[in-house]
Amino acid sequence: MTCVLHDGFGRQVSYLRLSVTDRCDFRCVYCMQEDMQFLPRKDLLSLEELDRLASAFIARGVRKLRLTGGEPLVRKGVMGLIGTLSRHLRSGALDEMTVTTNGTQLARHAAALADSGVRRVNVSLDTLDPVRSRVLTRRGDLGAVLAGIAAAKSAGLHVKLNAVALRDSTEHEIFDLLAFAQQGGHDLSLIETMPLGDTGEDRTAQYLPLDRLRALIAARFTLRASPHRTGGPARYWDVLETGQRIGFITPMSSHFCETCNRVRVSCTGMLYPCLGHEAATDLRAALRGSESDTALHRAIDTGLAAKPRGHEFQAGRLGEPALARHMSVLGG
Ligand code: SAM
Ligand code: SF4
Repeated sequence: MTCVLHDGFGRQVSYLRLSVTDRCDFRCVYCMQEDMQFLPRKDLLSLEELDRLASAFIARGVRKLRLTGGEPLVRKGVMGLIGTLSRHLRSGALDEMTVTTNGTQLARHAAALADSGVRRVNVSLDTLDPVRSRVLTRRGDLGAVLAGIAAAKSAGLHVKLNAVALRDSTEHEIFDLLAFAQQGGHDLSLIETMPLGDTGEDRTAQYLPLDRLRALIAARFTLRASPHRTGGPARYWDVLETGQRIGFITPMSSHFCETCNRVRVSCTGMLYPCLGHEAATDLRAALRGSESDTALHRAIDTGLAAKPRGHEFQAGRLGEPALARHMSVLGG
């Protein structure tokens, strides 16, 4: 089967976000509960199954693969998986393979990632303050994250920083984050919190709309809307004085679903055509049920046909989770 993936609204899907684990060494306050129950290991796809699944999507026209989690770099054997998947980069079937990480394991793996053809990594960095970092991650070791970012840069990886916008935190640190990004030559994207899963924290108190943050930046710097697009949800603004470009990802305050080109698969093999809906299709049964990929492709088609027009997050209803699923199930 070679036909490319289209959903029911004519959008072509060329981007797969694959979660390789639900586990993490952090417990970020906007993502997980302090006392998180993780999945039994037998429910997780094996590394071979993850490879087979990603390869099936690539055979159907997926050109960009992002590995995520949980924290992808804590999955045992993940570097072996990345190594085998890199054959699709060498063959030209895949344009890009990237990783979204909290950075704690990057210092160990940066060189091997670069050797496997990974060119870019997204690193989550919400704060540069070690005390605040410990509070936000409930575990965190900011030093390891910063060492990971430095190692990635030394290995020649392009590092994009992602910061979740948080009231009482990002407001005070935005200029430090901007300066850190500029000095390191890193892109920076700011993300609004989404109401996914019970985290044991009040999301209404956490939520900081990005137009507020933009106004704060605009009070010091000249911001100009950038025509730059990556095919993703970010809208970019150039900071004229520093020459930086900042991405604003605003799932709560504005939709970007009409151009959505992506689907997500959890580490248990559930295909989620939309981050903002519970609906999912089981690919694991198809993977495990047969050595041939026929049933797998059929299940992928079923999942794609169910891709909704868009998500329905509402900023006014952050108090309760819109979905029971935690962000760590799909990795954003
Ligand atoms: N552990 C890796 C990391 O932190 O980058 C990958 C998985 S994490 C779930 C992926 C991204 O989702 C991170 O940038 C994180 O900040 C973001 N994230 C987690 N929970 C979120 C939420 N409720 N709303 C918005 N972004 C969230
Ligand atoms: Fe872990 Fe990433 Fe979730 Fe933080 S955002 S708890 S690092 S999965």
